[in-house]
Amino acid sequence: AYEELQETERLATVGEMAAGITHEIRNPLTSIKGLLELKQMDEDPSDKYTPIILDEVNRIDTIVNDLMMLGKPKSHSFSRENVPHILEYVVSLLKPLAVKNNIKLKTKIAEDLQPIYCDEIQIKQVFINLVKNAIESMENGGEITIAANLSNDNVVIEVIDQGVGIPQEKIPKMGEPFYTTKETGTGLGLMVSIKIIEEHQGDVLIDSEVDRGTSVTVILPINGSYRKNGMVI
Ligand code: ADP
Ligand code: MG
Repeated sequence: AYEELQETERLATVGEMAAGITHEIRNPLTSIKGLLELKQMDEDPSDKYTPIILDEVNRIDTIVNDLMMLGKPKSHSFSRENVPHILEYVVSLLKPLAVKNNIKLKTKIAEDLQPIYCDEIQIKQVFINLVKNAIESMENGGEITIAANLSNDNVVIEVIDQGVGIPQEKIPKMGEPFYTTKETGTGLGLMVSIKIIEEHQGDVLIDSEVDRGTSVTVILPINGSYRKNGMVI
């Protein structure tokens, strides 16, 4: 009965998600359609619609990219991975964006970390999302610290920014699908990230103070088995 309940809950979530995604993708599609129709009727040779059409297409592309991770993974992509290796990859990937925004990315990685059993691509995606959010929260530059430590049988990774922060009562909203405070945000990054970490039997904790910054803590068990829909794979 418990499994049945879980399955019902899962289907309800999938249904809600599908409704949300349909809505989010239909908006830019409707606008693209309208713009193309205008373009077709327009005698004006200047191409004023194309940039807007491109913006809308990019928006759909971003939404689909953010969601892609949900369809994965395959169980065979699980292996023992080094956390420092993953974090260094993420830092090197996002360094150009950080530099452009006057932000310094600092890593503080403990020496005694043990490798974790994970889907490397998904875990990389999680930290790309978190560090990107950190960068986007710091309009005036500053420092982002990425710290990794061992605590009991867990690896604890913190992404600490000096950004705008978010009021306490809004913290639970952050992981909801399509919750965004950004003009071009999708509100999917954190939801996907939390889901990935939960599937790794880990946890995500968020602490924030307005105008001071935010810290997102990811806890990952070293010896976690991977669970999807209640099943150990
Ligand atoms: P998006 O980045 O597309 O808005 P996310 O799911 O990644 O979607 O984040 C949802 C919302 O949570 C953001 O729009 C922002 O309001 C808030 N948020 C996430 N990370 C941070 C952060 N580091 N500092 C402040 N607010 C954040
Ligand atoms: Mg984001």
